[in-house]
Amino acid sequence: IGPDGKMTAEAGEYEGLDRFEARQEIVKRLTSENRLLGTDAHRFSLGHCQRCDTVIEPYLSTQWFVKVGPLAEPAIRAVETGEVRFVPEMWTKTYFEWMRNIHDWCISRQLWWGHRIPAFTCANGHVNVTEEDPAACETCGSPDLEQDPDVLDTWFSSQLWPFSVFGWPKKTPDLEEFYPTDVLVTGYDILFFWVARMIMAGIHFTGSVPFATVSLHGLVRLAGEKMSKTRGNVVDPLVAIEEFGADALRFTYASSATSGPTVTLDRERLAGSRSFATKLWNAARFTLSQLEGKPRAETLLGRALSLPDRWILSRLSATAADVNRHLGEFRFDEAAQALYGFLWHELCDGYLEMVKPVLSGREGDDDAQEIARAVLERCLADSVALAHPFMPFLTEEIWEKLTGRPGTLIVSPYPEGDPGARDPVAERAVERLRALVTRVRNFRGERRVAPTEPVALSVEASPAETGEIRSLEPLLRHLARLSEIRFGPAGDGARRDVVSGVAVGLALPAGTAPTDREGVARRLSQVDQEIGELSAKLQNPAFLERAPAEIVEKTRRRLRELEERRAALGTAASE
Ligand SMILES: [Zn+2]
Ligand SMILES: [Zn+2]
Repeated sequence: IGPDGKMTAEAGEYEGLDRFEARQEIVKRLTSENRLLGTDAHRFSLGHCQRCDTVIEPYLSTQWFVKVGPLAEPAIRAVETGEVRFVPEMWTKTYFEWMRNIHDWCISRQLWWGHRIPAFTCANGHVNVTEEDPAACETCGSPDLEQDPDVLDTWFSSQLWPFSVFGWPKKTPDLEEFYPTDVLVTGYDILFFWVARMIMAGIHFTGSVPFATVSLHGLVRLAGEKMSKTRGNVVDPLVAIEEFGADALRFTYASSATSGPTVTLDRERLAGSRSFATKLWNAARFTLSQLEGKPRAETLLGRALSLPDRWILSRLSATAADVNRHLGEFRFDEAAQALYGFLWHELCDGYLEMVKPVLSGREGDDDAQEIARAVLERCLADSVALAHPFMPFLTEEIWEKLTGRPGTLIVSPYPEGDPGARDPVAERAVERLRALVTRVRNFRGERRVAPTEPVALSVEASPAETGEIRSLEPLLRHLARLSEIRFGPAGDGARRDVVSGVAVGLALPAGTAPTDREGVARRLSQVDQEIGELSAKLQNPAFLERAPAEIVEKTRRRLRELEERRAALGTAASE
């Protein structure tokens, strides 16, 4: 069969026939010669053209090949010695498997687009391959030369990219300055097509590997399907930007980029990212309105910070350290989630609520206000700086309003987190406060009473814990809307529970509402489920072996707490 799908001279009497007609003719001939034993329908796999669905026929043709073995050897060594490193590390094995079983590379393509093969054939059949187009045949001097009509495989051209962009083969200042590069970020599906070829070409043509680290991310899938131009199931980024915003799209990509092979994209995630952007914008507007024209502490050094101030600065520092660590490990998803958790749950839902009574002047003095403003300013500035790689437009806008220096966030130092701001005492105290507030809110839910209904809280704790809770008492009353707080054993009829290791009693003013037995049962089953999960985790040797000791300890603590809570709920259920 020839390239036109018709039979060639080798087919003898069938020459010139279309391949499908030729097959019919062969069957006819076999039949007429009485050589056909029978006809059966059967299923088999048959290659079809990806674009036009035509049946593919293999045929022999002359092509150009690259002898790859000698190129692969140093490229294998570069990864063995760690000169080039893959993230995630698991791709190293795939790379070695491919490279150690490599075949010569067919580089000629019968297409219109591409670099044309630099091979010229003279009238006498001599092939000339030279860097510059030859004027005459090197062998016989004939000026009658014809260039091969084929083009190079697109990956042959692409493998030159890391150095050709800098002007190679000229020794340009850019090539000198920027090559070899540091990091290549790409999809794992072209690890061999592109990445391995760049390593081979880089070593061959420049003597250096083209990059030190290759970060391989998963493929974006839409409802589980790989997006493909050919199939047309693609999300148009411009449409997504129109609907959700450029920052929301970018944040969604980052937060979905797990180390696995799949990046799942869907509308809920995009909508979630848009809400996150709005949350940050609103927090910024609130902060800016609080700062406008009002004095704030020049420095926080040596000032008497409140527990919430110390807590949020500690969390800010921890978050910055986490984000930096995750980015260093190319875990954009973990970095985005650390930021999301801090900004949404700790800064917006936590600190901003705690500091409102101070800012409004209902609690604390001028000093406390000035400090709170300075803390807010620091939190906002560092938060937008940390979030800048994920949401560049929104953060630059906020930064400009905050600092009055447009366009400077992108060149500002990236916050690394001040280890001196870490404050385990403040973290423990404020996190217990927040747990108590949550417990009181849930209690109202269980009793099906309005969120404004006053609740009396009793707390039975060690003297040290009692001291910590007392120091936050006005805030606890405010956030949990308590009618009363007592330190001592719970009174008769109070709902007992354990929150962050302290025994609490919760009660509504007499005669408010009956116990919500459904709510108790629901909470019991939730607690039971979590106990089951944590127990399984703690019995899993792999978890105990690999998880950091503090995580294991935290899990144990949580399990003990849940068991105490189950006991308390059991009592409530049998009331
Ligand atoms: Zn086709
Ligand atoms: Zn010649």
